[in-house]
Amino acid sequence: FFREEFTARSAAVRVRFGAGVRKNIAEELETLGAERALILTTPQQAELAEEFAGYCGARAAGTYTNATMHTPVDVSEEAVRHAEELGADVLVAVGGGSTTGLAKAIALRTGLPQIAVPTTYAGSEATPILGQTENGVKTTQTNPKVQPGTILYDAELVATLPVGMTVTSALNAMAHAAEGLYARDRSPISSLMAVEGLRAFRDSLPRVLASPEDVATRGETLYGAWLCGTVLGQVGMALHHKLCHTLGGSFNLPHAETHAIILPHALAYNAGAVPELLAPVAELFDDDNPGRGLYRFAKEIGAPLALSDLGVSEADLDKAADLAVANPYWNPRPIERDAIRTLLQAAWSGDMPA
Ligand code: NAD
Repeated sequence: FFREEFTARSAAVRVRFGAGVRKNIAEELETLGAERALILTTPQQAELAEEFAGYCGARAAGTYTNATMHTPVDVSEEAVRHAEELGADVLVAVGGGSTTGLAKAIALRTGLPQIAVPTTYAGSEATPILGQTENGVKTTQTNPKVQPGTILYDAELVATLPVGMTVTSALNAMAHAAEGLYARDRSPISSLMAVEGLRAFRDSLPRVLASPEDVATRGETLYGAWLCGTVLGQVGMALHHKLCHTLGGSFNLPHAETHAIILPHALAYNAGAVPELLAPVAELFDDDNPGRGLYRFAKEIGAPLALSDLGVSEADLDKAADLAVANPYWNPRPIERDAIRTLLQAAWSGDMPA
């Protein structure tokens, strides 16, 4: 992975890893000098907020259990008011990318420190990136102010992740690593993390599916999520992420499922342009074409394969292709409208990438 020139950046993040580590959160609050924690979850995970309030003990100020997909600005503003009323001095985000996004949005507006406790593999906790939605429009910014300073990775929390979400969330994470391998601003370290993240998922996912509650195996997936998320936080993304963003926004598709379906096709699209950079993926998934190798892996672990199953109609594909080429961006292979239309057709049908 050596390059003659590169610029590497990494965030100052404290990471604690281990089954049951969440129960030590009071120590983390003490380390930060924080005395009034606001605990954030989605409505579906509200019970976890209560559990965490117990661990925080006298340092728990309250909970806010209305984290919502796509980080709507009105929800963030309501949460900021709640934080101010409670006199919160730290945010504890327990959940997936939506909950982490809410904590980041509050931190952006208040400067409060954050402890992120992920329960999916999305990886937002490891990035200074925040996507927010206002009036139906999603905008993304990168700002060191939103990077959580502490992350607690507790495998017991992902052990309850349903099998379907496990698979799609893992492929969502793997997409960060795969695209990181050909990022223009990659460094030898980001590439090492990317390959190790992909390897961790490749090895552990089949075992997780065989015994979903095995905490040791779940730990290896979470290790993969940390590595893949860290890559996303360090380098720029390309075709795959832009395509998922466009499709997700225009057709209101679920985030992780969309990533799972598109990834093999996006890699196959780029493979010919950067064969040497994607060689580790080809090797890990045992196919000369990394996209095909990943497609086979996704199929084996029961991932969704077809955009048609997400409710996209075949008639939408022309519009999707137009949208995908509307705002030019860098990609190792030029974004060609006809080739993107072909890619979308295969992803819509669930066919193996050409
Ligand atoms: P999510 O946070 O939206 O969670 C989906 C649902 O699963 C929620 O109802 C949640 O409560 C539930 N859930 C989460 N963990 C669970 C568990 N262990 N057991 C049972 N249920 C659980 O989904 P996500 O895929 O983690 O995050 C997607 C969002 O994160 C998107 O909006 C995406 O844009 C954003 N994201 C941002 C970044 C970034 O760097 N800014 C990175 C990745 C994803």
